Amino acid sequence: SSATAPIRATLFPGDGIGPEIAESVKQVFKTAEVTIEWEEHYVGDQIDPRTQSFLTWESLESVRRNGVGLKGPMATPIGKGHRSLNLTLRKELNLYANVRPCYSLPGYKTRYDDVNLITIRENTEGEYSGLEHQVVRGVVESLKIITRQASLRVAEYAFHYAKTHGRQRVSAIHKANIMQKTDGLFLKCCREVSEKYPEITYEEVVIDNCCMMLVKNPALFDVLVMPNLYGDIISDLCAGLIGGLGLTPSCNIGEGGIALAEAVHGSAPDIAGKNVANPTALLLSAVTMLRHLNLHDKADRIQNAILSTIAEGKYRTADLGGSSTTTDFTKAICDHL
Ligand code: NAD
Repeated sequence: SSATAPIRATLFPGDGIGPEIAESVKQVFKTAEVTIEWEEHYVGDQIDPRTQSFLTWESLESVRRNGVGLKGPMATPIGKGHRSLNLTLRKELNLYANVRPCYSLPGYKTRYDDVNLITIRENTEGEYSGLEHQVVRGVVESLKIITRQASLRVAEYAFHYAKTHGRQRVSAIHKANIMQKTDGLFLKCCREVSEKYPEITYEEVVIDNCCMMLVKNPALFDVLVMPNLYGDIISDLCAGLIGGLGLTPSCNIGEGGIALAEAVHGSAPDIAGKNVANPTALLLSAVTMLRHLNLHDKADRIQNAILSTIAEGKYRTADLGGSSTTTDFTKAICDHL
């Protein structure tokens, strides 16, 4: 194993609360003796003509070279002439799948205590292809693009994920009864891939029924795979089931096995610089990065320390009803380690 050789990973602290919660990750990793060397990259204050964005070519190259990275939230600067930072990353690194683990945190009470599911969202096409126009006054058109290539790729990722993470079932979420061609093709691809994984149960669930089942009994689901827009909505619904934005991690998977982990939340300008942000979502995102690197021992240790700290209830940030600062909460996690 390469447990002792240092691994290089790109770190974008990001904007707003980003640098505060990124600092928390650095401290926790240091305490847990994770052998990662961070290559820190900041969003520039000028547009790099090579990327047409505030993200520099060097930053993107760093992720490509390292294959793994962690990203804090990035505020979308207002103004014209540049691409959104998140969109630039998604396009340039071909981040085709967004993976969001969602499980109940023991000791933090919400309506359910048995949520344990993974949403996998196709991230490059569907309703988010950006092809919208006006046909005539009062009539607009938006093109939903579904390709065999992108659908097979995300389905393959979902089944591979299920198999390698000891999951039993993959549910494809769709509206193929209405969107016969587009969602129909998506389902056909999922079905094809499912045949290669006979040990994983495969099912198809219509999106509206899926929403009803999720709020009634989320324990019914295991791994869910779906086109872009449905994934955007369902993954936030799932975040709500377990306690909100401060807690939910995600990981973007790109071409060639790139993994760029990020919290689901934004830069939280309302609380930035006040040392009150909850670093849990970014910490758990960093844990998904460790799992991607097969550093499961470190991932388990860090995850357990975070969960124990929250369960104990002595140190919690304001979003979870506590009064701890980001640094006190981080210190409590490090003490657990
Ligand atoms: P937001 O997620 O930043 O904030 C929504 C609410 O949740 C705020 O009240 C905030 O204080 C709270 N919150 C979020 N994360 C928290 C945390 N870790 N701990 C405690 N409270 C937390 O959403 P927004 O206000 O709509 O967006 C702000 C900026 O972030 C915008 O510029 C937006 O474009 C950007 N954004 C970036 C990403 C990303 O980089 N992936 C995602 C969403 C939004």
